[in-house]
Amino acid sequence: MRILVVEDEHKIANSIKKGLEQESYAVDVAFTGDDGYGLASTEDYDLIILDVLLPGINGIEIAKKLRGQQIHTPILMLTAKGQLEDKVTGLDAGADDYLTKPFAFEELLARIRALTRRPKDSLGIIIAVSDLTLNTATYQVKRDNKIIPLSSKEYALLEYLMRHPKQTLTKEQIINHVWDYDADVLPNTVEVYIGYLRNKIDKPFSEKPTLIQTIRGFGYKIGRVE
Ligand code: CA
Repeated sequence: MRILVVEDEHKIANSIKKGLEQESYAVDVAFTGDDGYGLASTEDYDLIILDVLLPGINGIEIAKKLRGQQIHTPILMLTAKGQLEDKVTGLDAGADDYLTKPFAFEELLARIRALTRRPKDSLGIIIAVSDLTLNTATYQVKRDNKIIPLSSKEYALLEYLMRHPKQTLTKEQIINHVWDYDADVLPNTVEVYIGYLRNKIDKPFSEKPTLIQTIRGFGYKIGRVE
């Protein structure tokens, strides 16, 4: 999943980026309101972490403008302690939730999981495709009850596929949601990582249905062949 962090305090922004990358998220950072708005309105993010007080256009205005343009990416607003007004204004402007600074990183992760949960993922924590399960809280992936160790990028790619079961995803969509803006990614990189996943998800379970499908000329999808 790809997240945009809009926060002018470099230290906070960089520590959020570093922490989220360790949790397999792809993260872009904008240090000004204008840069943040520019990225949020042109790139395809799964979530935006938006500070309220920013130089230039502030977080509230950014949220309003994005919603006005029918961009419905979930927004988690960062507010300063005691600024109740910011919370109310932020939610009114279209933010989905807020977090008061300073916050515990675990709480940020829990909010992100809640905001990126799709309505149909009943409990939201475990995503299943056939006998393959992925736990978004513990990052544990299992098939046929066997734990499958994955690298951070393999996990991010698998999570993106599993959140869109039976949908064909193009390499471009995959790159946009699994890698950050600065990453040097070629379409071939996606093929390479799909190969790694196949070696772990499908190859060792040859008696089971193949789950990762190549749709020639279009991209990839996950799910057993109907
Ligand atoms: Ca700020």
